[in-house]
Formats: sequence, structure tokens, C-alpha cells
Amino acid sequence: MAGYTPMIQQYLAIKEQAKDAFLFFRLGDFYELFFDDAVLASRVLEITLTGRDGGAAEKIPMCGVPFHSAEGYISRLIEKGYKVAICEQVEDPSVAKGVVRREIVRVVTPGTVMETKSLEGKANNFIAGIAQIGSAYALAVCDLSTGELYVTSFPASLQMLSDEVNVYHPSEMVGDAELLEAVKEQFQSWNRPLLMTPREPMAQEGLERQFGREQLASLAEVRVKAVSVLTGYLDETQKRSLGHMRVIRAYEPNQYMVLDPFTRRNLELTETVHERRKKGSLLWLLDRTETAMGARLLRRWIDKPLLSASSIEARLEAVDRLYNDLMLRDDLRTELKEIYDLERLVGRVAFGSANARDLNALKQSLQHVPSLAQRCAASSSGTLAQLVTGLDDCSDLAEMVGTVLVEDPPVSLREGGLIRPGYDEYLDRLREASTGGKKWLAELEKQEREATGIRTLKIGYNKVFGYYLEVTKANLSQLPEGRYERKQTLANAERFVTPELKEKERLILEAEEKMVDLEYERFAELREHLSSHLHRLQKLAEIVAAIDVYQSLATVSAEQRFVRPQVNDSYDLNIEGGRHPVVEAVMGGTTFIANSTSLKQQQSMLLITGPNMAGKSTYMRQVALICIMAQIGCFVPADAAAMPLIDRIFTRIGAADDLIGGQSTFMVEMKDIQVMTEQATAQSLVIIDELGRGTSTGEGMAIAQAVIEFVHHHIGCKALVSTHFHELAHLEESLPGLSNACMAVQESGDRVTFLRKLVPGAASTSYGIYCAQLAGLPGSIIDRAYLLLQSSEGLLSKTRPVAGAASQEVSSVERASRGHGAVNEVRDDRLLPLYNLEAAATSEVVQLS
Ligand code: ADP
Repeated sequence: MAGYTPMIQQYLAIKEQAKDAFLFFRLGDFYELFFDDAVLASRVLEITLTGRDGGAAEKIPMCGVPFHSAEGYISRLIEKGYKVAICEQVEDPSVAKGVVRREIVRVVTPGTVMETKSLEGKANNFIAGIAQIGSAYALAVCDLSTGELYVTSFPASLQMLSDEVNVYHPSEMVGDAELLEAVKEQFQSWNRPLLMTPREPMAQEGLERQFGREQLASLAEVRVKAVSVLTGYLDETQKRSLGHMRVIRAYEPNQYMVLDPFTRRNLELTETVHERRKKGSLLWLLDRTETAMGARLLRRWIDKPLLSASSIEARLEAVDRLYNDLMLRDDLRTELKEIYDLERLVGRVAFGSANARDLNALKQSLQHVPSLAQRCAASSSGTLAQLVTGLDDCSDLAEMVGTVLVEDPPVSLREGGLIRPGYDEYLDRLREASTGGKKWLAELEKQEREATGIRTLKIGYNKVFGYYLEVTKANLSQLPEGRYERKQTLANAERFVTPELKEKERLILEAEEKMVDLEYERFAELREHLSSHLHRLQKLAEIVAAIDVYQSLATVSAEQRFVRPQVNDSYDLNIEGGRHPVVEAVMGGTTFIANSTSLKQQQSMLLITGPNMAGKSTYMRQVALICIMAQIGCFVPADAAAMPLIDRIFTRIGAADDLIGGQSTFMVEMKDIQVMTEQATAQSLVIIDELGRGTSTGEGMAIAQAVIEFVHHHIGCKALVSTHFHELAHLEESLPGLSNACMAVQESGDRVTFLRKLVPGAASTSYGIYCAQLAGLPGSIIDRAYLLLQSSEGLLSKTRPVAGAASQEVSSVERASRGHGAVNEVRDDRLLPLYNLEAAATSEVVQLS
């Protein structure tokens, strides 16, 4: 350090505390970055790199961003997965001896951003803490912007821990270094980086201060550890009290339907498999929420379908009531539209970053709560009425904000203009003094004009010289000698002060300074007051969010003609006229062909055959989605549905990009099936698309049969299996619980029509060569292929194999939106251009043949 100036020495000492972050070092109106930070930041942020003398021989690399626009730069760094340590001047430079004292006041990280710019309104931003004690694992996740904190644990499964992390999709994770290392590769294929920082648990006293001894005592040790690791990190980076994060919500993993990460993705619950967009997902379809809190809650409901029939019934009851009352729905929506993101407003209040506009937004939102609550109370829905029974509408807080703050305050808290006249007597007096002073100035201007005869003489103000009298050069000669003291010379004017003006200026500026300070003080008191009522606001926000989700589910259900499912504790599942909600919505109109499903104790498995593009995977997905929708408490796309409670859904529906870490599709499939054999229960639903593909025909078929038999004999769960080996159709004879089904195809002359209708029995032909013919392959190839087929059929079993696995290449929704899904009956003349056009772009044709 020797040789560096004292300021650079200070910088280096502080940088030691934030080695893994960009250090934003406050110098006047700028945050400066030095050394390697500067070099990297200038590249990432595309800002100019300069140099600064720091006492050493070489200049120190430096770059900087203006303090007032720092938020944008910080959010860009955070988005890229970096951390930013903010270092401020913590003493008044005018009284400092030597270098002004500086400290890191906060470290902003991807999992702890509070800045609106970096946060998506409709999604949570979670940070996770993981812990292990012996063979037990725990996960704590928190959204700092709202203060939600959840914790759960798993007796002996690291895999379940990482699956659960996946549900929250956190942007950051902390925990013991070894444990982080153990789960690391599970998250490598994520579409955004998961920042991992090793951390030790925080000291017990700190934890007790945050959550209270009683709450901690109710948690298992491993859960406390996970919470502790997480809270320790938040404490260390945020360096302030987190008053909005006092409640720990513990849950058991088996309270909810288990959906592994592949299943979530394959069923496109919250994002599409390809492109990973919300549009085209179940969430996209169901999201008609009006508030950001509602949107986030809906996502959590979809992420965690319920397993309790009575809780599901309670939700369905509310949806039902709203489904049937368009007017009530509209009324609720009208009120909800006016309600801001209470949860994040509360977060900013707790964080001390809420400004006067935020508090006014809070007030305005609260003003709509009474009528919202009243409408729920008056509705005939028991669930809605219950939700608002004894509701604390926080109207006292709204009133208080209204008393203190003006209607339209500025963003800045340091320029005054915040506090309503009449709220503070002293403030009013200062204001009077200031306005009185200004009147006096106007009067002075008039007098001086008269006295000098200079009509253009004017009084002005600037920060450096204060108030002055300005006279243009042309008029200078008319100015009498003596009283006027020259202050500043401009190109064509001179500025003067007089002793009276100086005296008045002192009074005015003093009053203004006091006013600004006092306004800030009063504002801070108000914010402080609200801070002590955060839990009330949070409770209210939760209720508003739930009302919003109910109206959203009801709105979609009504518009899409969904029906209320009968949820029961029995085994049997019966869907009449079921539809795929998203494919249907994307197709529009009534072109989607409905299919029924009946899976009973004695008939629990379906083996589905049928050519490619016939609609097999759409059908299987739709059954899974209907189960999920029923268990989140939504109506379902069917004519009628009796739904048992499904404890978990396994899907093996290939996706083009599930090749993780170089594993082959076949290996991935086998691993999934291994997990299924281990974890599925009789209450589960298993869906396997194209079972046995990816290896030789003989082996594939053998494995497929063995897996089907295992599920049949040892698990006894509901299962939908599609396969291109329709030689397996004979299993129907040996397995009483299994029946064959296929997607109907109509042949007439040289025409083929996909009917998209599930019918009993096995498919008899694949149309593979037929498709090749339509695609325009030379006649000689087609003839030869039929010849070979005939001879191989003699060798193989009685039927020809059904064409293979194109369905996993493109999501069903995307296909529909690309157009060919919009055709229920695909005839020759449509098939032809379809296959021709798509041949080059997709692998569908390759696999069809
Ligand atoms: P498979 O799995 O048999 O190859 P898919 O399920 O992928 O077939 O369906 C192929 C296309 O047919 C999809 O793009 C979808 O839009 C359309 N489709 C599937 N089922 C239906 C249906 N029931 N009604 C109308 N179109 C459907």
C-alpha cells in the first residue's frame, strides 16, 4: 500500500471486505471504480476507462458512474450475475479531518436486489439457503423484496433438495461449500446463472433477534440451520434490520403434489420448453390477475398443487361462485386494478427505501380495500367471505399517510414539497418565512427598478452566488455608485448584491434548509411508523393476492368453458371430453378434438399407439394438466371430471434439449424411469411418451415391456404409455390392468385423415412409408421400402411398427401455433406441403420414415 495516497489506501482497505463484488466507491457525485474492478466494469458496462494518480508511479485504472443514475448500472451488473458493494461517505466532508470516512452500506446481489428496475413484477426473486445435518437436508428460500420466507426439509435425499430448489428457481444460493458443490451441476443448464456463495450459519443471538426464540424452537435443527445460513448472508450484505422478514413459513414436502423439474418443464407449467417463455405455458393461460401480488401467488399455486381435498374444495368453491357471477368478477377486477404491489411497497418501507410516492401508492391502494372486502363478504362464497372475515383493512395507516403527505410529492426526499400544510406548525411558519422572503424580493426588484430607472433589472438566484441583482452591460452606467457590490461578470451583464439583499438571503436560505430537513424528518417518522405495522400490511397483501387469484382462475374458467372437477379421495379418474387447455386456447375456436379418459383400479394403464402427429403426446399431457389444474383449485377443460388426488406426476416426455451434461436421451430416460420405479406410489400418475426409443428395436421393446409390467405389478398407479412398438399390444392379454388405445386415423383411397380421437385397440400401420411417398421420395425408394417392410414383417411380429418419435422435437403448443395443429383433419393435400416444407427445418420427417 505504501506510496498510495490516503484515499487510495482507504479504498484498498475497504475493497478487502468486498473481494467478490464490484466496489462502488462514492466520490462526490460519482461512484468510482478502481483497479481490476474498473477494467472489468468498463467492459461490461461499456463506459470509458480512465486513469487517476494514486501516489504510485503508474496511474490507477478508474471508471465511474454518476450517483443519480447508478441504479441502472447496478442492475445491469446484477443481471449478469455480479455483486455490487456500495461504499458511501459516512461523515460530513466539511467536518472531516483528513480523508472522509467511508463504509460499505450494502452489497447488492442477484438474490437481494430491491431496486424496481431489476425486479420483474410478476415473478418472485428468490434467494435460497441450503443446509445438511447428517443425512437430513433443508432448504430456506426468501424473497427479500416481499419478505416471504419458506423452509422445508427432506429426511435423506439430496436429489429432493435440489428438485425443491428448482421449484423456486432462485437467482442466488448460499450454504456450506461442500454442499453447494454437491448440488452444483443440477443447475448448470438453467437459463440464467445461479450465483453460489459459500456461507456459515449466523450466530444464534442474531437469529433470535430476527425471528424470536419461540418460532425457532418450533423448527427442526436442520431447518434452523438453513434459515440461519440464509439470514446470516442477508444480514451481512444488507447491513440493516429486515423488519418485513419475521415469519418463517415451514411446510412438509408431502403437503403438495410432487413434480420433478423435468415434469414441470415438459408440461410447460410456467414456461415453454423451447425458448422458455411464459407465453404458451399453463401460467400464461391462467394468469388474468390484476395485481403483481396475485400473479406471483398464482405462480406459487401452480408450482405447488394441493393434496388435501378439503383445501382444494375451498378454492373451487370460490372459483365456482365467481365463475357464475360475471358482475362480481368485474367489480373485483375494478378494485384490484387500483391496488399496487403492496408486498413490495412493504418491502421498501422495511428497507428504508420507500419514497413519498411509494407511500401515496400504499395509501391509494388501501383506499380500495374496504370495497373489495365488502364485495367478498357480500358474495355467497364461503371461502371469499371467510377470507375477509375480521379483515384489518389498515385504514388508519392510509389515513395517516393522507394527513402527512401532499397529493403529488416529488420523487426526491431531500428537496422538500412532501408534507401537507397544517401538519406541522413549525414547518408552516418556516414556509411562511420563505414565501414572505420571496415576496420581499419581488418588492425589492420593483423598488430597485424605480430607483435606478433600469426596467430590465432583475433579481435572480444561483447556487454559487446566492441571490443577486442583474443589470445588463448597456444599463450599467445608470447604476448609482456605492450600495452595489459587484459579484459576477457575464458576457453582457453584471451581477450585484446589496447589504439588505445579503441579509434577506440568509433568512430565506436558512428557512429553506430547515424546511427541507424538517420535511425529511417528518417523512422518515411516517415511514418509521409504518414499519411498525408491516405485519398487518403483509397479511392484507396476502388476502388481496388470493382474491386476485380466485378471480383470475374464474375468469379463465368461464372464458374457456372449463368445468368444476369433482375432487375425491378415491382411486378412479374419469374425464369426459377432456381438452388440452393451452393447445386449445392457442388454436382458438372449437377445432380442438376432445378425448375422454377413464383410469380405474382394475383398468389403470393405457398403452397408446398411433402414427406420429396423431395427437398422442398432446393427449397424455392434457390428462396431467387436468390433474394439476384440479389440484390447484381451478376448473378443468372437460365436459365433466371426477378427479382423485394424485400425489406425484412423473412424465417422461422427451424434450429436444434435455441432454444434460452429454448424457444420451436414452440414458436420461432410463434415469427418469429409475426414479419413477423408486418413488411412484399407487396414487401417482405416470406418463411415458415413446417408451423404449433410443436403443435397438429388440432391446427397446424388451425394456418397454419390462417397465410396463413393473408399473402394472408393483406400483399399480395410473399410467399412460405411448410407444411406437405396437407389437406390445399383446400385453393387453396378459396384463388385466392395461388396455390398448390408439389415435384414430381414417384412410379412404389414397387419403389419410388424423381424427385426433382416442379409440380402443392398437394402431395397425405407421404410415411411415406413406408419408415418405407424400414427401416426394423417388418411387423406386418407396417401392423398395414396401418390399423390405413386407419381408421384415414376416420376420417380426404380426404388425408393422408405428412411426417414431417426432413428438418430442417441438412442444405441442408451438406446433399448434405454427399452424399444422390448427387442422384436425389433415388430408393428403395438406400433408404434402406440410412434410415438404418442414422436411428441411425439423427432424419430424426423418423420424416419420
Ligand atoms: P404425437 O404425439 O402423436 O406425435 P402430438 O400430440 O404432438 O402428436 O400432436 C400433433 C399435433 O396435432 C399437435 O401440433 C397438436 O396441435 C395437434 N393436436 C393434437 N391433439 C389434438 C386434438 N385433440 N385436437 C386438435 N389438434 C390436436
